[in-house]
Amino acid sequence: MLTKEKGIAVSEGIGIAKVYKLTEPDLSFDDVPAENVANELQRLDDALQKATQELDQMKATAENNLDKEELAIFDAHRMMLSDPEFQSQMTDEITNQKVVAERAVSDVTSQFEATFAAMTDNPYMQERANDVKDIARHLLSWLEGKPLPNIDEINEPSVVVAKELSPSDLSHLNKKMVRGIVTEKGGKTSHVAIMARNLEIPTILGMASITDDTSSRQNIIVDAFGNKVILDPDSNTRQLYQQQSTNYLESKASWREAKGLPAVSKDGTTFSVNANIGNVDDSKLAATQGADGVGLFRSEFLYMGSDHLPTEDEQFEAYRSVLKTMDGKPVTVRTLDIGGDKSLSYFDLPTEANPFLGDRAIRISLQHPEIFRTQLRALIRASAYGPLAIMFPMISTLDELQRAKKVFYECRDQLRKEYADPHLGDDVKLGLMIEIPSAALNADKLAQEADFFSIGTNDLLQYLFAADRGNESVSYLYQPFNPVFLQLVKTIIEGAHRHGTKVAMCGEMAGERLALPLLMGMGLDELSMTATSVPRVKSMVRKYKVADCRKLVKDVLTKYSRDSEVQKYVDGWLK
Ligand code: PEP
Ligand code: MG
Repeated sequence: MLTKEKGIAVSEGIGIAKVYKLTEPDLSFDDVPAENVANELQRLDDALQKATQELDQMKATAENNLDKEELAIFDAHRMMLSDPEFQSQMTDEITNQKVVAERAVSDVTSQFEATFAAMTDNPYMQERANDVKDIARHLLSWLEGKPLPNIDEINEPSVVVAKELSPSDLSHLNKKMVRGIVTEKGGKTSHVAIMARNLEIPTILGMASITDDTSSRQNIIVDAFGNKVILDPDSNTRQLYQQQSTNYLESKASWREAKGLPAVSKDGTTFSVNANIGNVDDSKLAATQGADGVGLFRSEFLYMGSDHLPTEDEQFEAYRSVLKTMDGKPVTVRTLDIGGDKSLSYFDLPTEANPFLGDRAIRISLQHPEIFRTQLRALIRASAYGPLAIMFPMISTLDELQRAKKVFYECRDQLRKEYADPHLGDDVKLGLMIEIPSAALNADKLAQEADFFSIGTNDLLQYLFAADRGNESVSYLYQPFNPVFLQLVKTIIEGAHRHGTKVAMCGEMAGERLALPLLMGMGLDELSMTATSVPRVKSMVRKYKVADCRKLVKDVLTKYSRDSEVQKYVDGWLK
């Protein structure tokens, strides 16, 4: 038995089965000059046609399994294949340089791939590099008559192990037979990660050397809770995991059944359990998971997915779509939060020694009123289509909040004149993220100026403990259960409630199992998290009494001084 740790778990669950290795055929080719140019052009043309037919076939097979967003990947590939620029670059190379079709495909796709991969400040466009790589594989496989590994073949319970998977691989896998996925490459925001979560297949990406360490049909357990895989498990281990998996599947089924019901504690307090989203399609998942609303729409993803500053109309359409999808449930949109680790390819940010402490979020919006106004105008217009809240990220002082609100009111007045509607934007709620210690300690004053707070624990922890959230070597300082932090959260909630201001939490802590009873006990009003966690959290809320949770908070804060102690105590309490 061998345990391998440290991948990136992107879709939770336990998978127990035999390894199905997806190994690539050797697609290298003889790099010889073309003997017959016309022949090479014909071979290229045939390969393009075959690859296009293959894509259509794959899309048709996938149609039952996937939603629109995922099916759109096939259209993107198809568009690329039929792109005149792409095709003519290849035919030009064959004609002018008298190379074989394989060489032309390889050169031109590599150029396109490199261009996309270099767009490091635009993760969406960067991800397109993988699409081009996928297209190259398919074209070369047709040119060389070597079929690609076919995930379709899987007809017994299997864990797919591969160096890397493409979205098209996932689109036609047999969901019933694939019990898990482990790859060496891939990140949290890759299409593959999104698709695995949607397919609810336990998945770990970024597990180094997994293809070398496994062989086909070897027994394997994927633990996408513990973020590890176990090879050749002994029967005890297997049994333990089997039990954990059965429990999880049973729980999941029962969470689902009740996902549409409100999250009401045993003693009658209702909590809103909302979803965090990054685009319009995410809101569809939020709706199907029974989210009570959208608690955080990270609007910067709209900007990052575009090659220009999105216009007022483009933003309006996006916000309106989300509001319509949520069908009367509240939607909270955070204004642009770039800077730190997020940038825009078409917008120059100054080079700074400490970007997380520099120009970021509301600071940028206030320095660029034209960008800020465009966004606020789009939001105010969209508010006619459903209950909308706007929140400002990275507020440090009362002044910043007041300045941001002033811009909002100016935009609203202007729009009311333009649209001859004196009530436009009447119901928009205004709030702020509490993610900077100075704001947290000033909750009492800020609350008098805001309809709501949303606690951004990812940043609040980073700034409180002075530990870069992206730096592995200080990740031990991510301590949401440290009583110092819990006390701060409590202070924020109490400060806000003194003025009738609601408090939400939208950082990762909101979806953590151990955090829930503490947050319920502190009087938090709303939680917002990854959409697929919503049914679980809703069902957990129903199990506890707020009165008991209050006592838990008191105990924890008086008895302990360490993150680990609190985790252990709460874990025991939950059991
Ligand atoms: C946070 O900081 O907790 C948060 C929700 O915002 P982001 O992770 O987008 O910075
Ligand atoms: Mg933040």
